[in-house]
Amino acid sequence: MAPSTQTGSRTILRSLLANEGRRHSRSVGTRMSSAEELAELAESIAGCRRCPRLVQWREQVATEKRAAFAEEEYWGRPLPGFGDTAARVVVVGLAPAAHGANRTGRMFTGDRSGDWLYRAMFRAGLASQPTSIRIGDGLSLSGAWVTAPVRCAPPGNKPTTEERDNCRSWFDAELDLLDPAVFVALGDYAYRSVWRYLADRGLSMPRPRPAFAHGREVRISDGLVVIASYHPSQQNTFTGRLTEDMLDAVFSRASELAQEAPQ
Ligand code: SF4
Repeated sequence: MAPSTQTGSRTILRSLLANEGRRHSRSVGTRMSSAEELAELAESIAGCRRCPRLVQWREQVATEKRAAFAEEEYWGRPLPGFGDTAARVVVVGLAPAAHGANRTGRMFTGDRSGDWLYRAMFRAGLASQPTSIRIGDGLSLSGAWVTAPVRCAPPGNKPTTEERDNCRSWFDAELDLLDPAVFVALGDYAYRSVWRYLADRGLSMPRPRPAFAHGREVRISDGLVVIASYHPSQQNTFTGRLTEDMLDAVFSRASELAQEAPQ
């Protein structure tokens, strides 16, 4: 079956930005415009076709499908971020999974990495439930936003440098509309992407950049903190490189720092 129709896409995008009905607690008057801009941005992202290789791959995966999901209609398009538009914790991954987010249309949804991520976020009070199966499953985020520097599923989870650079403007535009106090960078790719974004915004960055290490906490300025974490990929979780306790510690710390951050 072909990727989602335009009408279906709009419904999904509205659902993503509505954060499954959750209302954020900050002033509507000051935040509504950002929420609306994020909604508009989500529509633009979902229509992007800048990278021929990734467009071809995401649509091929959406048409061929995995046997277990043969009856499902794949999203098969770029992924906008997901969460609370008043988020103080921004979680950054790498790119959508071919049969996960590229199928369900929501970041880290419908695959094992997402199971690990949202379980940890739930235990830290950042997610309403420990599971993330599909849009409409009731998941909402509280004070958190989940995004990635590359919005289309890449073959072998490896975007090219050109594809990463093509996607940079989406990542930057989304972050510019948020007000994070804490970044959780899932993996070295995410860590470098966050670093590049913050440096481009003129923040005073420690030099040289501290090497990526799980649990590393780097203070930037104005109370802004970057926490590095291993990505909850099966490569890390199956091998025991990343345990649930390790991921819990990262999100518990992120939540604590966000609460301490100036409003
Ligand atoms: Fe567009 Fe990013 Fe997808 Fe490339 S990876 S087609 S820039 S959304």
